[in-house]
Amino acid sequence: MPTATLARNTPPAQSGWQRELADAIRDPAELCRVLGLDAAVAEKGLPATGSFPLLVPRVFAARMRPGDPRDPLLLQVLPQAAETEDVAGWSADPLREGDALAAPGLVKKYDGRALLLLTGGCAVNCRYCFRREFPYATSGATRRGVAEGLEAIAADDSLTEVILSGGDPLLTDDAFLGDVIERLDGIPHLQRIRIHTRLPVVLPSRVTPGLVDVLTASRLARVVVLHANHPAELDASVAVAVRSLAASPAIILNQAVLLAGINDSAAVLAALSERLVEIGVVPYYLHLLDRVRGATHFDVPQGRAEELHRQLRDTLPGYAVPRLVREVPGEPSKVWIA
Ligand SMILES: *Cc1c(COP(=O)(O)O)cnc(C)c1O
Ligand code: SF4
Repeated sequence: MPTATLARNTPPAQSGWQRELADAIRDPAELCRVLGLDAAVAEKGLPATGSFPLLVPRVFAARMRPGDPRDPLLLQVLPQAAETEDVAGWSADPLREGDALAAPGLVKKYDGRALLLLTGGCAVNCRYCFRREFPYATSGATRRGVAEGLEAIAADDSLTEVILSGGDPLLTDDAFLGDVIERLDGIPHLQRIRIHTRLPVVLPSRVTPGLVDVLTASRLARVVVLHANHPAELDASVAVAVRSLAASPAIILNQAVLLAGINDSAAVLAALSERLVEIGVVPYYLHLLDRVRGATHFDVPQGRAEELHRQLRDTLPGYAVPRLVREVPGEPSKVWIA
């Protein structure tokens, strides 16, 4: 496929999920108003917003408990004054992904797999995100960079799996994704395509029939890794989106980040696993927080994480226990802690 088809610049008519995204909440004071919270809760966080502003779709905000400033979904998205604290050992690029760019838009750290960054955008800005300061614009997460990344994938026959990532890869539209996946289909050494996305959780309307068609048409085995951290994120609309994705057919997994004040209890983690399994998702990874600047207030010490993981093993079936991992720059894989 010529590069030009990927660089198309006439946007198609907006579909429902794109309109919902355009209408997402971007103002902390508005989010507080919607939840019936004192605006002072929002003002405390304003100095921290910086280049990583609040962004939350209304359907996700609707799953938050009104009037509760400690709501576990709210705490994932509301800027906190603590974000401005500069703490030794917490940096802008904790995973040193800047060093792992194999080509524009392509992050290769592990054997056989590479991350193709389709866009820097997300539908929600998670305050703990390790890519909150990632320089997408200069790292190839652009249409032109994607075209170059695809060339590099075609030229590297050690790759068997391409992971569409970002930002959130499903923020791109179905036509663009269709072009990318068709191009990947034509690369003989590839066996699998994986999509790492939070969109089916935070904006389930993104799982359009067109998206399912694009996945269904691929010759590659498909794996979708969702990102949910708390069972309250997984309402009936998410269950419907998961069922549609699974029909492509695809294996559906989840990764969560262990976050202080949000899911650092055995009861919440067990409820998350049980809800995931209930809607047809296998818990894959539970990540220790990456030490990104601005996220120190979410840290859970490793010893506590191991204790929580032991409690999960004691109460859940084995398939419902996610692997506890940490990313360590320079290691040949994610480091399995338990
Ligand atoms: C997490 C990650 C992967 C995938 O690792 P798995 O253990 O296969 O899930 C691949 N590449 C990069 C750069 C990653 O960060
Ligand atoms: S959706 Fe993922 S990439 Fe986007 S801000 Fe949240 S954690 Fe980061």
